[in-house]
Amino acid sequence: MQHFAHPARIHSMTEQSPSIVWFRNDRRLSDHPALHAAVERGGPLVLLFILEDDADRVHGGARGVWLHHSLEALRADIEARGGRLVLRRGPGPAGEVIDALVEETGAGAVFWNRRYHEPDRNRDAAIKERLSDRGIHAESFKGNLLVEPWEVKTKSGTPYRVFTPFWRAAKEGLEVGDPLPAPKTLDCVGGNIGSDALDDWDLLPTDPDWGSKMMEYHVPGEAGAKQRLEDFLDGPIEDYAEGRDRPDKDLTSRLSPHLAHGEISPRSIWDACKDNEFTSRKFLTEIGWREFSYTLLYFNPKLATQNFADGYDTMAWDHDAQAFEAWTKGKTGYPFVDAGMRQLWETGWMHNRVRMVVASFLIKHLMIDWRDGEDWFWDTLLEADLASNAASWQWVAGTGADAAPYFRVFNPFGQGEKFDPNGDYVRKWVPELKRLPKKYIHQPWTAPKPVLAQAGIALGKTYPNPIVEHKQARERVLAAYKEAREAA
Ligand code: FAD
Repeated sequence: MQHFAHPARIHSMTEQSPSIVWFRNDRRLSDHPALHAAVERGGPLVLLFILEDDADRVHGGARGVWLHHSLEALRADIEARGGRLVLRRGPGPAGEVIDALVEETGAGAVFWNRRYHEPDRNRDAAIKERLSDRGIHAESFKGNLLVEPWEVKTKSGTPYRVFTPFWRAAKEGLEVGDPLPAPKTLDCVGGNIGSDALDDWDLLPTDPDWGSKMMEYHVPGEAGAKQRLEDFLDGPIEDYAEGRDRPDKDLTSRLSPHLAHGEISPRSIWDACKDNEFTSRKFLTEIGWREFSYTLLYFNPKLATQNFADGYDTMAWDHDAQAFEAWTKGKTGYPFVDAGMRQLWETGWMHNRVRMVVASFLIKHLMIDWRDGEDWFWDTLLEADLASNAASWQWVAGTGADAAPYFRVFNPFGQGEKFDPNGDYVRKWVPELKRLPKKYIHQPWTAPKPVLAQAGIALGKTYPNPIVEHKQARERVLAAYKEAREAA
């Protein structure tokens, strides 16, 4: 870190004191209520991002890569408006970093947008209290959700456990309002305020450098997010309701990393869709799933570590390290599953339909604890999100709030045949199968020997045989679920 020259208060007593805007998972300038409030207050700004090493759950590897590029983009956007982004990493927790910065700059106010996981909320509440005790104005805003988790409750005052009534109720009184404009200029505190060098944070992997390849598929940052939304609204949204389950087609928005890192607000998305309510209904319902996931996390802080529903704690999970590795590497012998896992590994993103199938495969075919899968996604998804990831894994496991029933076991080749009917998705991500005719692409083990030979495939050598047999695996897991539920 470059150290500041002296801790003198930078503003004069007659001017408005500086405001600190603490950026977290909201790395954008448009529709940023905390930034907006700071600008409205007047006085110079301190635009701050803190790398929190003591976070309840430190970001995974892929998310860290996105974070690096996202911060670069934010910094460039801020500098283009005449401002400066201050990066800090400890020493000590975020509260101490903020205290030190208040001291250095003489800031009279600190603004941020809310986050919803209990440990983060507790931390933010403690920071707010300490600042207020010192006479510093501290204020938080709704910037990352359309509805705050506590705003939508059942008639009896309890949080919703099921998505459909939640979303119906959420939409009922919903007043989204207009997104806030990005400030045209950013007047930041001058002087020599110390900032870390982003490269020193080592967010990018070097040995090997797997991050660069991932970034060929994405453009992190607010401009990238806006472009993605525009591209999506320009075409794919028309076929979204019908085609969103087709991983062989590019019909979903792929906004998830941008949303998870707060490079675009859900309100801006809502606003962009409002003139086309009919076409965008299904898409906005998916945005609703994100809202619902946050409600679940808010009221169930252990969503990523504990079964939400009762009756599954004694489930006899199999701890088969070899099977887990085959799954992570996309070598299960089920092409649709393998394609998804390889797409994830190379691009840091996976199509939603395939996520459901690979998750079901891990939990139900391999009988591996959903938490192991959640953790793998946490490390490999660019958009790994505590709420959406945990809620989705529990949904697939059948242990969640609004659960797919535990006895729903996705057929890993049937799903492929239905949603990748020509096998194009498999051919793209499992190239060793690309010469296999469509008829066998999802079940290579059923292909006659000459067909395999002609396609250059030697099962067990160039591509694995299935690591479990579908029917047996299904029966095994159903029996295990039954036993766990009976024991509860
Ligand atoms: P679109 O179909 O274009 O949807 C638009 C937006 O709605 C998405 O960007 C996302 O923010 C939200 N959304 C869509 N589906 C869901 C959903 N089921 N739950 C919550 N939000 C949703 N999503 C994450 O953002 N982070 C995760 O860590 C994550 N982990 C998942 C793990 C599993 C096992 C499964 C089955 C799903 C997971 N999802 C997660 C949800 C979903 O798969 C992705 O949000 C979606 O595939 C992202 O692609 P998209 O932006 O093209 O989605």
